[in-house]
Amino acid sequence: MAHLTAIQTQNLLPIPNPSLIVPPQDANHFAVYHLQTMGLINLQNSCCLNSLTFFCHRMNLTNLLPTNNEMVQQNSYISLCFSEVFRALPSAAPFGLEIVIRVWNFNKPGQPITPNEDIYGLSDLFFDTLLLPAQPNGDPVITEFLASYHCGGCGYQDQNLTHWIGMSHLKLPGLDVPRRPDPVPVGELLTALITTPFNVQCMMCGNRQAIGSYQVRRGLFTVVRLNRLNVGDWRNQVLTRLDDTRTQGIGDQYLGTLIGVVSHQGNPQGGHYIAYSRVNNQWHLNSDAAHVRQVGYHPFNPTNQNETVGLLVYKNN
Ligand SMILES: [Zn+2]
Repeated sequence: MAHLTAIQTQNLLPIPNPSLIVPPQDANHFAVYHLQTMGLINLQNSCCLNSLTFFCHRMNLTNLLPTNNEMVQQNSYISLCFSEVFRALPSAAPFGLEIVIRVWNFNKPGQPITPNEDIYGLSDLFFDTLLLPAQPNGDPVITEFLASYHCGGCGYQDQNLTHWIGMSHLKLPGLDVPRRPDPVPVGELLTALITTPFNVQCMMCGNRQAIGSYQVRRGLFTVVRLNRLNVGDWRNQVLTRLDDTRTQGIGDQYLGTLIGVVSHQGNPQGGHYIAYSRVNNQWHLNSDAAHVRQVGYHPFNPTNQNETVGLLVYKNN
């Protein structure tokens, strides 16, 4: 890639060639041998980015990215770089994502990937950055949470907004995890998000209290971020476990089959990110460059008491 020669990458380990094991067109046909068996090397605490990469690999995003030419035309060298990484998986040996970080930081100097990223922020930025064009039938790849609002001040109404003033996220709204003794169903959290009005700043009169609500467009996948720091203090991290029981709420309409999870072990000041992939109804754990291994528990019910779920992906068909 000519672009890479402009960035100082000559001393970095390359991204391996495309994998000889080509994952299937459809993520439903993903098999255990498609997993990144050898893992990814941790470089400067990159376990968050590594885990996000395992997560995207399980989603099989390779087939959903635009062509190389389209990515170049849209100046999305970050998408191009991740495309190379996804095509390299599964690789014969573990490798590191140093080039990805270098390309990202060259292209997004205002939003760099730094050591010790948190999955809550990184996943939102990542899915806002990666080019994932809509399917031929118009369905988005990732379920979209668009806004509509009505201004009580001037009467203005607007809808189908991907961005609005006062937006609290880039692409993936966060689900606030409540502090409570019992596990909380993910559907309940998503229903609460969809049915709770929020404030939008009216673009006509500037009123900050226009009443917004979400219009959800179901995609091939629904990616869900869990906010466990909703009081803004890491010592108050919410440890409530998740429950995969179905609810009757509207949120469950957007939650198909859970196929991938990123979890965090430790406390928010320090710890480690890991990724779980569901294949053939069994869960498999990737942790940096450790060999992938099957685990006997559901990631919502880990054996490690200090482990919390931070990011989920559901496949919707
Ligand atoms: Zn107004």
